[in-house]
Amino acid sequence: MIIYINGSKYEIEAVVKLFFPLERFEFKEDAPVRTDGCIIARTDETLFVYAAAGGRKAERSAPLPEDPSENEITLCRLLFTALTELTGVTPAWGCLTGIRPVKKINTLMSRGMDYEQMYSYLHRKYLISRSKFDLIFRTAQGQRHALDTYDPHSFSLYIGIPFCPSRCSYCSFVSHSITSKGAKQLIPQYVDMLIRELRETGEMLRGTPFHCDTVYIGGGTPTAIDAHQLSRIMGTAADSFDLSAVREYTVEAGRPDTITEDKLSVIKEHATRISINPQTLSDSVLRNIGRIHSARQFYDAFDLARKMGFDSVNTDTIAGLPGDTAEGFRATIDGLIALSPENITVHTLTVKRSATLFQGTARGDLAADDTLMRMVDYAGEALADAGYSPYYLYRQKNTIGNLENVGFSKPGHEGLYNIYIMEEIQNIISCGAGASTKIIDHSTGKITRSFNYKYPYEYISRYDRMTEYKKTVRQMLTEN
Ligand code: SF4
Repeated sequence: MIIYINGSKYEIEAVVKLFFPLERFEFKEDAPVRTDGCIIARTDETLFVYAAAGGRKAERSAPLPEDPSENEITLCRLLFTALTELTGVTPAWGCLTGIRPVKKINTLMSRGMDYEQMYSYLHRKYLISRSKFDLIFRTAQGQRHALDTYDPHSFSLYIGIPFCPSRCSYCSFVSHSITSKGAKQLIPQYVDMLIRELRETGEMLRGTPFHCDTVYIGGGTPTAIDAHQLSRIMGTAADSFDLSAVREYTVEAGRPDTITEDKLSVIKEHATRISINPQTLSDSVLRNIGRIHSARQFYDAFDLARKMGFDSVNTDTIAGLPGDTAEGFRATIDGLIALSPENITVHTLTVKRSATLFQGTARGDLAADDTLMRMVDYAGEALADAGYSPYYLYRQKNTIGNLENVGFSKPGHEGLYNIYIMEEIQNIISCGAGASTKIIDHSTGKITRSFNYKYPYEYISRYDRMTEYKKTVRQMLTEN
């Protein structure tokens, strides 16, 4: 599809993708040609959009807003209504395309707006539906306590372990499958280097007025490495940082097929929270996504964690996996609720071209928007009935049906790290390949990000060059 545009293409592309998620776009600035398969979005003396696909067309225009900063969002609204007419689809988020919609509610709340005022403002500006507004409002309420108890003189420590037991077909993350001999051989060196980075980072922060508030070990699948390696990493973190004031320590164990009693014992020594992620409780859907474990293995890993005393467990699911149905997804949600984990996170499948699942996939091969909507709506209702509330929410580009990812929790079990990272209010000190460190200037709200190398082999071979930036982190922290 060709998009003729004479302004910033980012927001326009995001709106078009709500309606054509798997389409490839070509951008042109030259004179618009009104043919099938083209979209025109222009800001000249007026705002103008034209869209044609499948033999249908729709057109909108409006005068330029008095405030030029409103041009882009006004053009997006015109385009959204034209594409709604063209496709018959009305995405429930309207043209609100950002990753962190709850941030908007928190900002409006801080201006003293009530529920109706916030809804009317966001609906007018972005055409958001009442149901999605209500979801972000409830999510903002669910994170209130975490935001109120947050100390600006704190940081979260993130530790990345980018290895997995096999590659899920929908995954676009850089994680390495240890079924590959090369990746497996990298693990000992990676662990050594990560330990070095943890020590050096802890040393660098010593003596600053900042304390560690939460720890999150993520991946990949941190439990893809062995118990001894995990113990060395967690032990080094404990020796290198003062963890005495830590309120939450999570290990995203992730894949049930990597969870063993000896690894859970290591985790139990240090962590307060664990994530065990089935994604689905259907064995056939698990096979479709290239997972080499069964639903039974998830149940066994969950039971083992409970028997070993883990009293804060998250489980992740994904709506819209290939071969899943509304009934199948309902069975997954019901099965998880029956286990009564403290958190259930409901993701919606995101189309990433780099993932093997989407190479050669057409939109028609994936769950239809209304099926997805039924899945996600059912999850929200069933979880509310079972006493769970939303507490963090984010959206990703190219999510099927333009839906969202939502963390639900039982009261008092809201995951602090998830809230702080999503609301971008806390410093994040990160170690490991692909990890990013974020330093917040609380007086201006400015966030300075620095990134470690993405791939384990780069992380190992260019370690010294990469950690140069870390020498400035202490200075940035203490200046802010
Ligand atoms: S477990 Fe997660 S990170 Fe690993 S391959 Fe699957 S989706 Fe990717």
